Amino acid sequence: MITVSDFPKYRGTMEYVCLGCQARFDIRELYYTCPHCGGVFILEDTSFDSLLEFPPSYWQGLFDKRAATRVTALRGVLRFYELMAPVMDEEDIVYLGEGHTPMVAANDALTELVGVPFYYKNDGQNPSASFKDRGMACAFSYLKHLVRVNDWDSVLTVCASTGDTSAAAALYAAYVGGPIKSVVILPKGKVTPQQLAQPLGSGATVIEVPGVFDDCMKVVEHLADNYRVALLNSKNAWRILGQESYAFEVAQWFGWDTYRKCVFVPIGNAGNVTAIMGGFLKLKKLGIIRSLPRIFGVQSQHADPVFQYYNEADPAKREFRPVSVTPSAAQAAMIGNPVSFPRVAHFAKEYEKIGGPGSFQVLQVTEQAIVEGMLVANRHGHISCTQGGECLAGLLKAKELGLIEPSEVAVLDATAHHLKFIGFQEMYFEDSFPAAYGVKSDPKYVNRPRSIMTEAEKAQLSPEAYTAKAAEAIVESLGLARK
Ligand SMILES: *Cc1c(COP(=O)(O)O)cnc(C)c1O
Ligand SMILES: [Zn+2]
Repeated sequence: MITVSDFPKYRGTMEYVCLGCQARFDIRELYYTCPHCGGVFILEDTSFDSLLEFPPSYWQGLFDKRAATRVTALRGVLRFYELMAPVMDEEDIVYLGEGHTPMVAANDALTELVGVPFYYKNDGQNPSASFKDRGMACAFSYLKHLVRVNDWDSVLTVCASTGDTSAAAALYAAYVGGPIKSVVILPKGKVTPQQLAQPLGSGATVIEVPGVFDDCMKVVEHLADNYRVALLNSKNAWRILGQESYAFEVAQWFGWDTYRKCVFVPIGNAGNVTAIMGGFLKLKKLGIIRSLPRIFGVQSQHADPVFQYYNEADPAKREFRPVSVTPSAAQAAMIGNPVSFPRVAHFAKEYEKIGGPGSFQVLQVTEQAIVEGMLVANRHGHISCTQGGECLAGLLKAKELGLIEPSEVAVLDATAHHLKFIGFQEMYFEDSFPAAYGVKSDPKYVNRPRSIMTEAEKAQLSPEAYTAKAAEAIVESLGLARK
């Protein structure tokens, strides 16, 4: 019997499994791609079925009790230890406050506007302000484990990033310290100022290269193939495991009842949607949930290779083709050749086998709808980034296409905090989006500060006269009535 205050006793037997050739590899080595065929890995606990010895109610009760644990190692995403990476010891686990992000219901006005009840799950409330912290907590814990058991004296972690991966990697590396040093490689001018400031502030070495994310990824892969570095992109299968916690938390929040729930996820490199499918599948296998929620991936018209693949209705005719991206306000998902595509294909097949046809679908939305999705959400009290706006655009699209009913409940992933992507709001309010985005401002959504007096006018006035004059101007601007 596992008691709540104790660190779990269960240990799994994990292996890397290549999705290309099915070869299996030992986890004591760091692998990113299959040495045989170049395929991507998932991590599998070959003892997972032994967890079936316990009934679903046991797991539900255990995870519910653990939600209040004071064991630091179990306070974050590793609350779901047995389902995730049950090979680490308590001392290995890094906790910076990730996970447990709030589900915030849309208010009445927004629900009415959209026509389907929904929640935002605010993954921007993670420590580096995006969901990437979930995967990074798991990847760094495992790295710390390897450093400890192998007595490594230096590890250089590298990642390419659309911004948030590097912020998360740099943060966790700074905290773990010691032999772990972090290098991040960014596409110059293609991350927001906030996302650039984050790894700099965490003390990481930041290297800017010309091009878009897909170019950066190739450089990083070249480094990982030829030099001794630990790759922290979502090719790193440990990150996918950590990100499964999103699915576990959604299910837990609904009291493990995921019937008629629909989860909307933006797709970029496709790691997150992979992890979310994988997570729900694990819960289903153990009977912790009785039905799989439906999953809707969402992509911008400007970066939509996964949508294009599934847009072909006949599975036999589907063929994956990378696309060239054009500028997208959902910049963190602006990826034409997602490294996790083989994982999506793998899990989507399994998902549809159990959840039925249509339990996994991909929607395509316009740039205009993405930005306005964010603006409308935030005008109703949310803190969504542009990718969260993409989810709302996806929900509206699903509604329009008749794919979702008002009797269902949607969960939208606000993958990062609003403030990380504030420049896109500014461009909308100033109607200054470069033509390539194809976004025009609708005055209905524009909000600008009102200026009531110039510095020069103020300089002319005594302090008392300034106060009276400024107040008068505000009264006029607001049309205030006297008491
Ligand atoms: C990374 C990221 C995405 C895309 O997630 P993938 O796992 O690459 O599909 C979406 N939104 C934000 C804010 C991100 O940082
Ligand atoms: Zn292989």
